[in-house]
Amino acid sequence: MPTPPPPNRPAFVRHNRALVVGTGPVGLVAALALAGSGAEVTLAGPDPLAPETPPDQRTTALFGGSVEMLRHLAVWPQLAAQAAPLSGLRLIDDTGGLFRAPEILFEAREIDAEAFGYNIANANLVAGLARALGSRSDVLRIPSPVRALTPAADSIVAQFENGTDWIGDLVIGADGRKSVCRQAAGIGQRGWSYPQTALATRFIHSRAHGGVSTEFHRRSGPLTTVPMAPSPSSPGTPHQSSLVWVETPGEAARLMCLDEGTFAAELHLRLQGLLGEIGAIGPRAAFPLSGLAAEPPARARTILAGEAAHVLPPIGAQGLNLGFRDAAWIAEIVERQVRAGKDIGGEDALADYVQARRLDVWSRGLAVDLLNRSLISGFLPLHLARGTGMAALAAFPWLRRLAMDSGMGVSGTQPSLLQPYQAV
Ligand SMILES: Cc1cc2nc3c(=O)[nH]c(=O)nc-3n(C[C@H](O)[C@H](O)[C@H](O)COP(=O)(O)OP(=O)(O)OC[C@H]3O[C@@H](n4cnc5c(N)ncnc54)[C@H](O)[C@@H]3O)c2cc1C
Repeated sequence: MPTPPPPNRPAFVRHNRALVVGTGPVGLVAALALAGSGAEVTLAGPDPLAPETPPDQRTTALFGGSVEMLRHLAVWPQLAAQAAPLSGLRLIDDTGGLFRAPEILFEAREIDAEAFGYNIANANLVAGLARALGSRSDVLRIPSPVRALTPAADSIVAQFENGTDWIGDLVIGADGRKSVCRQAAGIGQRGWSYPQTALATRFIHSRAHGGVSTEFHRRSGPLTTVPMAPSPSSPGTPHQSSLVWVETPGEAARLMCLDEGTFAAELHLRLQGLLGEIGAIGPRAAFPLSGLAAEPPARARTILAGEAAHVLPPIGAQGLNLGFRDAAWIAEIVERQVRAGKDIGGEDALADYVQARRLDVWSRGLAVDLLNRSLISGFLPLHLARGTGMAALAAFPWLRRLAMDSGMGVSGTQPSLLQPYQAV
């Protein structure tokens, strides 16, 4: 005989209810993607546009699939003018090692693309996604952090700091690296750190970037400049780039404390004059380098996305692009379950997600880790391997094309939101 529900909990009626926890870029894009899946979607978390929300000073280089996804979700037209196309990626060996690799320039036209991707300020990306969600009546909002989650065999219950309760079938945990959802679902994590800190900022410069992002490979870690769209607040100085400068923690702390003029002079030196004179520098933020992998990324009616599932060092612009692909797969799997009349938080849906994301997340994490370690390690064969790899890339166009295709994340089976967008 089935056990009757406890008196304070009515029998659960399945309505394909999904709760997205987290209002960072991944939570916002996941909620928008799910809105077309046939599930009833609720987005929970603080208002990302509230004036008290600290501004995210970072920018994100969005690659192929992520931009297509924003096109499918009808958000890209509002963002395009704020994003800078990346038509080239230049790698410069500045390790001063025995085996100096040749400079490599990857050009998007080599793979018949206009651009590899687009660089956009995180604040603009989040604002665009939040505005798009604000105009949708089919996404419900709980403007409060989740306090507790209780998964059960047939449903999952969420309790919020503002006293609201929610009951449904599936929770998507996009609540960042300290994820409450991960903990509540009993999902384990593997974490690691690097003896490095990334300093992120943006700066004005006198020479045009030409749409080319440049990565200097240095013994302390990469220093990367990424083109930005002209700043509307500085119309007379149109050339602007973002910077991710990886250093030892001590050196990063010193750079954080420098006055603007001295910082600009040091940056000019590191860039070897590549972008001409350095002008105004934006606010600087420091990020100790670390990695994290949730194992497995789905369990107990909970699917993790973005940094709740995987944290990568900010090298090679992979983290948020992976998060967008997580969201696209979640929408695809949920839609498939709804169509088949199956439980959207059931074991089969969760297993499909784990399977779909395994190789992509693992291979990107490995590539970033290997590149970083090949720079900071004192192990000579590793430097030789990196140098040889770069020399081969410089010499063979087919190898460059292969690397470019895989770097843009467009190969293999993809969910519909990552497929090339065709305007109707
Ligand atoms: C310097 C730097 C440069 C980078 N550049 C790139 C790049 O060029 N390309 C790229 O792809 N990636 C890049 N990344 C990585 C990228 O920034 C991250 O992957 C991305 O910001 C993660 O987004 P998220 O939504 O998963 O997490 P977050 O942005 O951390 O969002 C988590 C959200 O969850 C909310 N939250 C937390 N707890 C709760 C709770 N209990 N209840 C409800 N809500 C909660 C928070 O308020 C927050 O809004 C970079 C990272 C760094 C450090």
